[in-house]
Amino acid sequence: MKGAEYISQTQNTWCPGCGNFTIQHAIKSVLSDLGIPREEAVIVSGIGCHAKIADYMQTNSFYAIHGRAIPVATGISLGNPDLTIICSAGDGDAYAEGLDHLIFAAKRNVDITVIIHDNRVYGLTTGQYTPTSPPGFAGKSTPEGVKEDPFNPLDLMLSAGATFIARSYSRDKKGMEEVLKAAIQHKGFSFVEVLQVCATFYDVHTCYDDHVYRLEGNDPEDRRAAEVLVREWNYSGEGRIPLGILYSRDAPTFEERILAGKEGEIDRTGLIQRAIAKR
Ligand code: SF4
Repeated sequence: MKGAEYISQTQNTWCPGCGNFTIQHAIKSVLSDLGIPREEAVIVSGIGCHAKIADYMQTNSFYAIHGRAIPVATGISLGNPDLTIICSAGDGDAYAEGLDHLIFAAKRNVDITVIIHDNRVYGLTTGQYTPTSPPGFAGKSTPEGVKEDPFNPLDLMLSAGATFIARSYSRDKKGMEEVLKAAIQHKGFSFVEVLQVCATFYDVHTCYDDHVYRLEGNDPEDRRAAEVLVREWNYSGEGRIPLGILYSRDAPTFEERILAGKEGEIDRTGLIQRAIAKR
């Protein structure tokens, strides 16, 4: 299926220059490259500018409420574990309203790919600070500047048990495609943080351009190396920012544990088919 066939005809209202475009087109290209048909892909989104991707992709999609994209995606995965489920969430959406769901999905190793469109601002509501906004950020809710430090979501995900952790940048589509391809193919919970430009309320590309670098030759299975990598940049300073796969390991998925038969064998029949069969 050609990449263009994954894009819907819905009128797009993202601002010119918004990093969401890169994420949308990277997803499209990767689904096409991996040969995943539209009917076997599901995009689940929360609330925010990013969430419109559910309308803009010509796949199955679900527009969840604020912060609740991950539990919806978890339910879909248990219902039909053979689907490719991509969960798009914003930094406010996933790191504030939905933080508990993010942590528990990582802990459980739910077999979904979570892409965080991290523009470090609430764009849809015109510019309030989020958990990753840097100190001093003067948004609509903080006119005198943010007076607290951001947290480090990658460090949090490593502690929570995520089995795949990567970072990408919305001005590096090729690198993003490589990361997304590996994330979708990973069995288990894949966490992909995208540093995303918000062209209207927080255009940070001038800060990122000089600091990002692509990881080369690292061993993603090396936990100690990952602990160093996730802390190389703390979201408030101007240190070097590693892009790529920072950590990856194999582990049983939530679906395998929940859907396993009495003898422990893995039954790929989802809960939906089981419910239908019982009727
Ligand atoms: Fe993109 Fe920012 Fe515009 Fe929202 S406000 S569509 S995040 S550029």
